[in-house]
Amino acid sequence: MDVKIYEYDAVIVGAGLAGLAAAKELTEAGKKTAVITKLHPLRSHSGAAQGGINAALGAEDSTELHEFDTVKGSDYLADQDAVELMCTKAPETIRWLEHMGAAFSRDDKGDIAIRPFGGQSKPRACYAKDRTGLSVLQAIYEQAFRAGIEVFDEWYVADLIYKDGKVSGVSAYDIRNSKPAIFNAKVTLFATGGHGRAFRFNSNAHANTGDSLSIVARHGLPLEDMEFVQFHPSGLGGSGILISEAARGEGGRLFNSEGERFMSKYAPNAMELASRDVVSRAIMEEVRQGRGVGKEGQSVNIDLTHLDPEIILTRLPELRELAIAFQGQDMLKEPIHISATAHYSMGGIPTNINCQVRKNTKELVEGFYAAGECSCVSVHGANRLGANSLLEATFFGRHAGQSMVKALDEGVELRPATVEDAQPMLDELNRVKRGNGKERVADLRIELQNGMTANAGVFRTKESLEKQIKIIDDLLVRYKDIRIDDKSNTFNTDLQEGLELGHMLEFSKFIVVGALEREESRGAHYREDFPTRNDEKYMKHTYAYMDKDFNITTEWGDVVLGKFEPMERKY
Ligand SMILES: Cc1cc2nc3c(=O)[nH]c(=O)nc-3n(C[C@H](O)[C@H](O)[C@H](O)COP(=O)(O)OP(=O)(O)OC[C@H]3O[C@@H](n4cnc5c(N)ncnc54)[C@H](O)[C@@H]3O)c2cc1C
Repeated sequence: MDVKIYEYDAVIVGAGLAGLAAAKELTEAGKKTAVITKLHPLRSHSGAAQGGINAALGAEDSTELHEFDTVKGSDYLADQDAVELMCTKAPETIRWLEHMGAAFSRDDKGDIAIRPFGGQSKPRACYAKDRTGLSVLQAIYEQAFRAGIEVFDEWYVADLIYKDGKVSGVSAYDIRNSKPAIFNAKVTLFATGGHGRAFRFNSNAHANTGDSLSIVARHGLPLEDMEFVQFHPSGLGGSGILISEAARGEGGRLFNSEGERFMSKYAPNAMELASRDVVSRAIMEEVRQGRGVGKEGQSVNIDLTHLDPEIILTRLPELRELAIAFQGQDMLKEPIHISATAHYSMGGIPTNINCQVRKNTKELVEGFYAAGECSCVSVHGANRLGANSLLEATFFGRHAGQSMVKALDEGVELRPATVEDAQPMLDELNRVKRGNGKERVADLRIELQNGMTANAGVFRTKESLEKQIKIIDDLLVRYKDIRIDDKSNTFNTDLQEGLELGHMLEFSKFIVVGALEREESRGAHYREDFPTRNDEKYMKHTYAYMDKDFNITTEWGDVVLGKFEPMERKY
């Protein structure tokens, strides 16, 4: 088969905030850059972000307080040097976005408005109504385009070209016609976003299937802290579609079926604005105790009816529309049903503070970078604070672009690729496309998702996690026996979903094995059989590696400590 070889200084996989911010920096510095994305850039999940993006802009706020809240929220697993860098650069990052045209909401004085979010001592989430992500993504997209970025959209990246400790691009195919190509590059960035689709109830876009994680892991490279998956307290009951934390930030109150404002039992001071892990567990505990509402008692109520309707109509219009459209509930008139939903991945591809990917706890991979949700520079540790992720994706995306420009300026040789480099991808495409077995992709996927929500969700135990490992191992065997109906080369979504399922099965195993090995509770990872945090043994990052038979081994990496000493979290 004909394999076209493109040559670039830099190749970026992903066109969300992180990918576009990096692409803009590289292109403006005169580097020949390609952005490859399986979606149109504006359909990236960044555009779905609702609530806000953090920066210490308030008169009583400070970047140090922002750092403190982030480290405390992370349950002390975040690397404090990376947190310091991100928080001190946050105000500048907001101005950068504003100058590019991001339309932030304003306060009475005409300054950028800020709203309170969970786990934060001061209001600091800058927002554009409840469509913050779209406003910011649109602004970066326009300006990156103006800078002249080259975008290959509806291209699927299926493999990394990695040899002798060095990355020299990726193999991909054009979704329109299945034509394969190699994007040969001096430096490569993965900015492929989150992987919440592994769970049955999740707030993520269909595309958030974590492809890059297993692409990296198949080459023997590690994934970091994968057990830390954030469950957002407010997904619409039943579907998991997000009702942003802004609903609680603006004053929303949680009630169980007995009309009790139950957060007073779990977080008497912070109440509904305790950090997400605390509120999610509280909700699920109420449901488990039989005090849920809605279908099968699986939800609780969030009530906003006491608010001035003007607040809902001007600051939360999209949330209102979502609840009406998907649940038939109007938050102006009645409480709406919500439940914890898989939302965000704290773990991912490990990088140093300059976004260069780590080969293990000590060495780096040459020519390879990662940024945004797919990466783990570890600013969120065990639990991310709301509105810190748009900040991370924008700031570290830009920072990755600058690190790549620097590396290119210092002189990186292009290691030429050959058509043989695409062979592993071609073999995989053929296997999925020609497979004539008896298993269906959709069936295996739903079994995975149901198992992950039930056994590796908000509450975890040794038994539930061991059960889930067995389920995944069984699904990995059955995956070899799949059959897809569409054998054509044109917009073959069956093929793409088949490939994505392979990735989901593999990275899910990392989540479960990490959760099993970490015999403590920290941040979003809650073990009912080990309900307390154990700093002595587990104030460590998990580095996990996969072999060809999907066996996973782990080692522990140091956390970068700093000025904030670990304390108990109280709410
Ligand atoms: C509903 C929702 C609301 C949120 N609200 C907030 C909020 O208010 N504040 C906040 O801070 N955070 C929020 N978040 C989190 C935040 O939006 C994300 O973490 C962040 O936008 C991720 O940006 P990214 O650039 O890393 O990835 P994304 O924006 O997800 O982009 C990923 C890109 O990778 C590409 N890609 C993936 N795999 C492949 C492949 N195999 N081949 C080619 N391309 C590929 C995709 O096409 C896409 O362009 C929210 C998340 C959700 C789901």
